[in-house]
Amino acid sequence: MYNLYDFKIEKLEELLMTNYFQKKYRATQLFKWIYEKRVTNFDEMSDISLAFREILTRDFKLFIPTIFKKQVSSDGTIKLLLKMEDESLVETVLMRYNYGNVACVSSQVGCNMGCSFCASGFLKKKRDLTTGEMIGEVLVLDQLLKEEGENKRVTHVVVMGTGEPFDNYDNVLDFVRILNHPYGFAIGARHITVSTCGLTEGIRKYANEGLQINLAISLHAPNDKIRNKLMAISLKYNMEELMDAVKYYEKTAGRRVTFEYILLKGINDSKENAKELAALIKGTLAYVNLIPYNPIKELVYQRSDDKNVHDFLDTLTKCGVTATIRKEFGTDIDAACGQLRAKNEKEKV
Ligand code: SAH
Repeated sequence: MYNLYDFKIEKLEELLMTNYFQKKYRATQLFKWIYEKRVTNFDEMSDISLAFREILTRDFKLFIPTIFKKQVSSDGTIKLLLKMEDESLVETVLMRYNYGNVACVSSQVGCNMGCSFCASGFLKKKRDLTTGEMIGEVLVLDQLLKEEGENKRVTHVVVMGTGEPFDNYDNVLDFVRILNHPYGFAIGARHITVSTCGLTEGIRKYANEGLQINLAISLHAPNDKIRNKLMAISLKYNMEELMDAVKYYEKTAGRRVTFEYILLKGINDSKENAKELAALIKGTLAYVNLIPYNPIKELVYQRSDDKNVHDFLDTLTKCGVTATIRKEFGTDIDAACGQLRAKNEKEKV
C-alpha cells in the first residue's frame, strides 16, 4: 500500500500514468484535495470518479502520525512526540516567531552523526523517515494551529530536528519539494531551511538541485581541532573540504549559507575563537547564527555567559562578519533536540 504523502507531484504523475493509466492532471487533483483542502478520505474527492476512488482506497493510504505526547511551553512553543505506524517516536516542534509559525521537523528516527553536545544522538539511528512521515509532522502541527484559528498555518519549516537530512537525502528533497509546490503546502522556498552537520557530498549535490531553499551548516568550531572533539563528522570531512563545498554551493546555487555556531563555555566561545572563525569564513558570503547552548543534564557542556556571547558577536561584527544570536524557545519543555524522545524511549524499556 502506498502512502499518498510520500509522493512529490512528478512521482505521483508518473505512478498514476504508468500503473493506473490515468491522465497527468489526476496528480494535480489529488494534490489539491490532500494539501489545499486537507481532505483525508478518498470518498470526499468529488471530482474523481467513483471507480478510481475505489482503486485509491484499495492501494493508497493517507497516513497521519498520532500524538503520543504534547508539551506546551509558556512561550507557546509546542513540542510533540509523534508515533509512526511502526511505533517509532519522532520529535516535532512548533515555534512562534513574530514573522510566523516555524515547524522544526525531524528527518530520521535517532541519529548516527555522533555530535558530543547533542541529545538526538543518545539513540542511534533506527531508520530514515519517509517523505510522507515528514509531511505528517507538518500536517499534525497544521491541525493544531487550525484549532487555534481558521487561518493559522505553519509558515516556515526548518529541517533541524533529530537526524541528518543529507543522510536521508532523497526523502528530504521530495519532502521540501512538496512543501514548496504551489499545489502542495505552497510554502516559499526562502521560508524553508535544511540544516546539515556538513556532509560535503550532500552539499554539492544540493547545490545542483536548482532550489532556492535555504541551507544551514552546523559548524560550531573555528578549526579542525575543536570541531574534531565536538562532531565526529569532522574526522571524515575536515574544515578545508567543508569550506570548499560551501564555496561550490555559493557559486553553483548562487546563494549563501548560514553557519550555525553553538556557544559552549570555555570550548569555542573566546574572542580568539571569534577572530579565527571570521578568518575561516572570509571569502564566503556566509552569515553566522550564534546559538545559546541548551544544556543537557547527562552532558558536561555548559552555555556561555551572556558577556561572552555578546563579546563573540561583537568581535565577529568588527571583523566584518554578519552574525545574529538565535532567539530561544521552549527552554522549559525539553526543547533541546532529542531530549523528549530520549526520555520517553528510556521510560518505554
Ligand atoms: N543534523 C543536522 C540537523 C539537526 S541539528 C545538523 O547537524 O545541522 C539542528 C541544530 O541544533 C544543529 O545546529 C545542532 O548542532 C543544534 N543543537 C543540537 N543540540 C543542541 C543543544 N543542546 N543546544 C543548542 N543547539 C543544539
